[in-house]
Amino acid sequence: VVDPAGRILFVGAWTDCPTQFKKWRQTRLQGRRVFPAFIECHTHSVFAGERASEFEERLSGISYAEIAARGGGILSTVKNTRRASEGELLRRTQSRVDEFFRQGVATLEIKSGYALDLKNELKLLKVIKKLKGPSIVPTFLGAHALPPEFSSYELYVDYLLTEILPRLRKQKLAQRVDIFIEHGFFDRHLGERYLRQAQTLGFDVVVHANQLAPSGGVDVGVRLGALSVDHVIHVGKSQIEALARSNTVAVLLPLADLYLKCAYPPARKLIDAGVRVALATDFNPGSSPSQDVMLTGLLARLEMGMTLPEVFRAYTTHAAMALNRHRDEGTIEVGKLANFICTDEPLSAFFYSAGRVPEHELFVAGRLASR
Ligand SMILES: [Zn+2]
Repeated sequence: VVDPAGRILFVGAWTDCPTQFKKWRQTRLQGRRVFPAFIECHTHSVFAGERASEFEERLSGISYAEIAARGGGILSTVKNTRRASEGELLRRTQSRVDEFFRQGVATLEIKSGYALDLKNELKLLKVIKKLKGPSIVPTFLGAHALPPEFSSYELYVDYLLTEILPRLRKQKLAQRVDIFIEHGFFDRHLGERYLRQAQTLGFDVVVHANQLAPSGGVDVGVRLGALSVDHVIHVGKSQIEALARSNTVAVLLPLADLYLKCAYPPARKLIDAGVRVALATDFNPGSSPSQDVMLTGLLARLEMGMTLPEVFRAYTTHAAMALNRHRDEGTIEVGKLANFICTDEPLSAFFYSAGRVPEHELFVAGRLASR
């Protein structure tokens, strides 16, 4: 039973339902399986220009650095994204968002970060604001790469802090700030300075951390109380213990590891140590050109030793924590939004077949959203 705002008033047998709730919207689920709607907590869904040809080049042995030197890689996406109109970006992004919605995703995080200048980063965040379907959580990822107009990461971070972040605050375009702390990108000291100042301005922070090497991003994230550290592949005992003591969620992104042919994160060690682990697609045009939620969970089961209940928790409860939405979403309980999936198929049919989400109905705020 759900109140007019879409929050759960009662879950259980109809005979146990308090009489005062019986006038509100009810969904009869007897005999069906029900679990919280999926929360996709890490994507780069707003961009223009595909990079499929680069994938073939990479497979044939041409290095990422060579591709980048020829104007490919992330900066080619930046060039195409800057050039694209707001209308074109909205159309492209909406169809990607529809694809997540179709898979049972009720809440979707989308990062900016393929424009890297004030005017166009604002354009991306405005596009994100106009999207329809799932509830969207925008994240500002201006600190994604060094744009060609800047000669140093330090100068670019100063620009982000003085020119862009205050405007985001004023226009309420994003509440979260993300950064790519990796060797060859933003280093840990600069990253920490940036995120601390972002927190002073009132933003929540998250970190792309320890994907390609032990970059120090996890340490920075834990020290600052980041909502999440994402990727988390190159971590040792001390990082895992620090994460376990913190409230920071480790968001693991195995599709990117599949496409980059690199190691998978040590999910088993993280979970056994008590770290909260979430999963996401990392959908982006370079390292993870796939929106496949089921394949993400399947890889976690096949390659990372995660059990099916752990995968469900990673895509619901823990993903809600990573987005700071756990008071409203992520479990089915009184007071939270009635975002849930209803199915006649066994739960073992989920995160099993790549590319195929079992037959289901998605309810958002108590209303049937799909079909
Ligand atoms: Zn990412």
